Amino acid sequence: MGGSIKAGLTSGNLGYPRIGEKREWKKHLEAYWGGKLEEKALLNEMKNIRLEHLRKQKEAGIDWISVGDFSFYDSMLDTAAMFGIVPERFGHSGGAVSLATYFAMARGNQSTPACEMTKWFNTNYHYIVPEFGDRSPELVENRLLALYKEAKETLGIDGRPVVIGPYTFLKLSKGYERERFKEVLESLLPVYAQLLQELEREGVQWVQVDEPALVTTVPQEEMKMVQESYQYLHSSAPKLDILLQTYFDSAEHYPELISLPVQAIGLDFVHGRSRNLASLEKHGFPADKVLAAGVVDGRNIWRSDLDDRLELLESISRYVPYERMIVQPSCSLLHVPINLEAETALPAELRNALAYADEKLTEVVALTQAVRVGHEQADVKESLASSRKALQALNESPQRAVRSVEVGRAVLAAKPRAPFAERRQLQQEALGLPVLPTTTIGSFPQTAEVRRARRQWRKGEWSKEQYAAFIREQIGEWIAIQEQIGLDVLVHGEFERTDMVEFFGEKLAGFAFTANGWVQSYGSRCVKPPIIWGNVDFVEPMTVEETVYAQSLTNKPVKGMLTGPVTVLNWSFVRDDLPRKEVAEQLALALRKEVEGLEKAGIRMIQVDEPAVREGLPLKKEDHEEYLNWAVEAFRLTTSGVEDSTQIHTHMCYCEFSDSIDAIREMDADVISIETSRSHGELLESFGSVTYDKGIGLGVYDIHSPRVPSVEEMSALIRQALQVLPPSLFWINPDCGLKTRAKEETVQSLKHMVQAARQIRASL
Ligand code: GLN
Ligand code: ZN
Repeated sequence: MGGSIKAGLTSGNLGYPRIGEKREWKKHLEAYWGGKLEEKALLNEMKNIRLEHLRKQKEAGIDWISVGDFSFYDSMLDTAAMFGIVPERFGHSGGAVSLATYFAMARGNQSTPACEMTKWFNTNYHYIVPEFGDRSPELVENRLLALYKEAKETLGIDGRPVVIGPYTFLKLSKGYERERFKEVLESLLPVYAQLLQELEREGVQWVQVDEPALVTTVPQEEMKMVQESYQYLHSSAPKLDILLQTYFDSAEHYPELISLPVQAIGLDFVHGRSRNLASLEKHGFPADKVLAAGVVDGRNIWRSDLDDRLELLESISRYVPYERMIVQPSCSLLHVPINLEAETALPAELRNALAYADEKLTEVVALTQAVRVGHEQADVKESLASSRKALQALNESPQRAVRSVEVGRAVLAAKPRAPFAERRQLQQEALGLPVLPTTTIGSFPQTAEVRRARRQWRKGEWSKEQYAAFIREQIGEWIAIQEQIGLDVLVHGEFERTDMVEFFGEKLAGFAFTANGWVQSYGSRCVKPPIIWGNVDFVEPMTVEETVYAQSLTNKPVKGMLTGPVTVLNWSFVRDDLPRKEVAEQLALALRKEVEGLEKAGIRMIQVDEPAVREGLPLKKEDHEEYLNWAVEAFRLTTSGVEDSTQIHTHMCYCEFSDSIDAIREMDADVISIETSRSHGELLESFGSVTYDKGIGLGVYDIHSPRVPSVEEMSALIRQALQVLPPSLFWINPDCGLKTRAKEETVQSLKHMVQAARQIRASL
């Protein structure tokens, strides 16, 4: 495609989902891992999927198609493997990384733990964290060259190889000290240079270099390193044109960014719309560069308002003529499902207003056409009208009847909770717990039996009553087990829930569930997030029956268990006609009713889980406060309706406690439990400088492993914690829910935990 941009506005794409229409990608991978598919067959299947996806994009009429975005697992891992960045422990002796080593890095094997995995910016996609070691990076295999040739030879596509840029790649890697950032970056650049030179030699015109880290808060001195890096890359391959692509928010350091020696800059005009537009207005755009304008949302599933996007393009064209502009999605389409073909069961006004990856490509092409031939041309007119009509029907649906905002504030102000010290007194009187109370985080093992029962019920083989009786049996069994172990605060075990968001979504109004809305979460694991498409409302009690039943079986307190509003929000596809904070408020008001229902039914302790608060954190530091403010408010709105004698718990998975401490304090939960066993030392250290003066449980064992920790191990952790935290506020619990564990190991571990607590209690 290179060179022909003078013909006018062109269309582009930044990446396509890998998983395949029927998740065949996942199936082949898992068959291979399970020994049911030979390596050769796997390579062949993968090639078919890869080419099919390229062919689809070409057929859709996309001018600029990326190659190399397809992966067997993850693009960060691909980049690490391409540069020979393989941790020592995998015994890689140089040269191209074998498929076995590649998957071992991703998944571990009997003898070697996998590389760490973590969330990709503020998405729910996880990447494999590259680990730098003693060996310096080198280009052990130019996978982009091979993929470029493949697309050209088999499909006649002159693709645009895509690679994660050096700044982002290094920012997201580990295994080097932060002070050595510049040095390590410099060791990486010659490898990138060689990669680009080989592409240049092959006759590649354009390369897409993804630098999403450039939308985060980038220190000035690092921006200077970015400038030097691109200067170096440009002089190494001067004939090659680089599209420097940012996404997920507005670009930082805009004036420096647009003066980099690259030939095109990609900006996200969906998630960074107002700030990117403001930068354009203020600083203009260089006359010798192309602007790739991301105007179709690559992160959400709604159809674009094409009228609005045409206006947006027009505003952009005041600074960049259409001849130097590319229309594209805001980021790779990796984060949305493939297409709507299977979505036949959704309400019509919802279905018609959705756009998955394939439909988004159609939108990109429609926008391009509209600019090229004018809005009055018949086809264009029709697509504009149909998008207008669909969105209008959705917005006018009773599901979206306008709600007054600020209800939450009023509710919160009407009945504030008493200060913690007072509440604590009342709670102690009501609950009579020993010091260092022991509890768990909520779920118990979801055994094969539990999963089978649920399948039978969903398929209609079991009646509702049969299934409910089965759940009661499980609850009964585990209440007895918990009493026998000697835990102080019991839970019902969450046997009725598959997923902590889906369970509540299915019972609240405003949600829809798709048939094929799968997106990759990590490796071959895909998730099907619910859609919050209408106003969220409480319909009927969701957890009261099971909790009350559990409480009826014991004299010990049973902790009610809910998923919090911010977690539900962050793990769903959310309507975009309202600010997220308003949707959070609706969720909070609905969940508040459940909390009140539990209390009314006699439950004295209620836990509202918020494991996903942290991952909704905006990418720029300057935006953190606003987000945390409404997130905290939503939590408080959910929990503040109860009596002061009712104890509110919350749970967070990993959390950088010290940097969100203020927000956590503001949540005003009576007890918080956090996952810490893997980073116990660091967390305790942070209590040297911050204080936390409410109930707190630091996970004393890692639930991600089947290993049963000893009494001594856990006592040691508890003793350490008690050096910085007062025993009167300290709780003893595992790191997280136990649903992925087996029964035996769970019981054994909890017995040890209770023993450790008793020993220490006795010694106080
Ligand atoms: N209550 C949930 C459970 O125990 C919490 C899970 C989570 O934090 N992700 O499963
Ligand atoms: Zn957790």
